[in-house]
Amino acid sequence: MVDPIFDLITQEETRQREMIGLIPSENHISPEVSSVLSSCLNSKYSEGYSRRRYYEGNQIIDQIEDLAVNRVKKLFDVPYVNVQPYSGSPANGAIYFALMQPGETLMGLALSSGGHLTHGHPNVTFSGRYFKTVQYGLDSQARIDFDQLARLAREHKPKVIVAGTTAYPFVLDFAKFRQIADEVGAWLVADISHITGLVVAGEHPSPVPHVDVIMSTTHKTFRGPRGAMIMVTQRGLDRDKDLGKKIDAAIIPGLQGGPHNATTAGIAVAAEEASRPAFIKYAKQIRTNADTLAEALQAKGLMLVGSGTENHLMLIDLSAISPGLGAQVAYAMDVAGIYANRNTVPNEPVSPFYPSGIRIGTPLVTTRGMKAKDMKQIATWIQQVVELTQSARLPEVQAERSPFLKEFRAKADKDKKLRAIRQEVSAFAREFPLFTWK
Ligand SMILES: *Cc1c(COP(=O)(O)O)cnc(C)c1O
Repeated sequence: MVDPIFDLITQEETRQREMIGLIPSENHISPEVSSVLSSCLNSKYSEGYSRRRYYEGNQIIDQIEDLAVNRVKKLFDVPYVNVQPYSGSPANGAIYFALMQPGETLMGLALSSGGHLTHGHPNVTFSGRYFKTVQYGLDSQARIDFDQLARLAREHKPKVIVAGTTAYPFVLDFAKFRQIADEVGAWLVADISHITGLVVAGEHPSPVPHVDVIMSTTHKTFRGPRGAMIMVTQRGLDRDKDLGKKIDAAIIPGLQGGPHNATTAGIAVAAEEASRPAFIKYAKQIRTNADTLAEALQAKGLMLVGSGTENHLMLIDLSAISPGLGAQVAYAMDVAGIYANRNTVPNEPVSPFYPSGIRIGTPLVTTRGMKAKDMKQIATWIQQVVELTQSARLPEVQAERSPFLKEFRAKADKDKKLRAIRQEVSAFAREFPLFTWK
C-alpha cells in the first residue's frame, strides 16, 4: 500500500501552485533551504550549545550552529544570537522567562489591535497566565496609541514592553517605545516576526539601536525554515552583560530540549540568502506590490485600515459594507482560489470569530515572481468576490457559532461565479513557480 500521506502532500502542492496566497505570514523557501530541512541533520541530538553539548558526536553540528549564529549576528549587526527556539511563540516565552519572574508585568499590543497572542493576551495564553499583563491599543487613526501606552506604563511599571505586531499596516517607531521603556525602567523587546525581511533590506527601520532584545520567526518575510531566532543588542548587553546567557538558559534547560539541527542549518542558508542584493530587491518588490495592491483595492471602492500600508500587509475593512463580513469574504475568496484570513478591524463591531476584516499581504506572491500589474489583477478578483459575497449574503451574523456561516459556505461552494473566478485564478497562478529569485 502506498501511504496516502504522500498523495495528500502532492494535493497540497497543487493547491499552493494553483492558488494565490495572500496570508502575510506565509512564504515559500528556496530549494536550498528545502533540501537542508530533509537532510540527515534531522537525526542528531545536540542538547546544549556549541562546544557545550550533553551528547557526543556534535563536532559538525557545532560548526553548523556557529555558522547560523554568526551569519545572523552579521546580518543584523548584533552581538548575541540564539537560533534554537522551536518557533516564535516559545521564543517569546523564553524571552519573558529570561527577563521576568512569574507574576511580574508584561505590556504588549492587544490581539484585537494587531498584537500577537503571546504578547500578553489574558487567560488563554501562557503570556497572560504566568504574568500580569497590561495591553495597549490603537488611537483613532488606527495607529499605536503612544499616549495610552505611556500612561499605562507609568501606572503599571511593566518589567517588559513588547513592540511587535502581527496585523498592523504601519511602520513601528522603536525610538518612541524606547523613550517610554526608559522612563519606567522596562526591558524593551521587539518582535519583528512579520517584518524581518523588510528590516534586513532597509525597507523598515531597524529596532537594533533602540531595543534590548529582538525576536523573529524565521519563516515569514525572512523566508527560511519554520523556527525563530532571538537577538540581544549591544544596548541589552550593556544593561546586563549576562543577558545572552540568560536567554540561552531560558531556551534550554528552561523551555526546550534538543535543537532542531536541520532548522538551524536552514536558518544559516536563509541568512546567507538574505544577505544577497537579490534579497534586497525582493523586499523592495514586497513593498511595491503592497502599495500597488492597496491602491488598486481602494480604487475599486474597498476600504483599508489606515488608507493603505507602510509595510507588507493590509487590512481590508468591510465594516462599512456590512459588519462581520470578513469570515464570509475569506471563505468566498478561498473558493475563488485566493486564500487569506479573516481578521478583526480596529474597534471590531462584531466578534473575533466573525470579524469585519480581511488580512492580506504580499511576501508570498512576491516570492513567486508576481509584480505590480499582477497585483492589479488580484485586486480585481478580490473586489469581484466581495461583491458576490455581498449579494449572496445571508442575514446579519449575530453571534459566535452562528449557523449562517455554515449556510453561506454551502452556498459559496456551489456558486458558479466564484468557481469561474477560480478557473481564471488557477490558470494565472500556474504560470508562477513557487519560488524564484526573479
Ligand atoms: C507569527 C508570530 C509569532 C509566533 O510565531 P509561531 O512560529 O507561529 O509560534 C509571534 N509573534 C509575532 C509578531 C508573529 O507574527
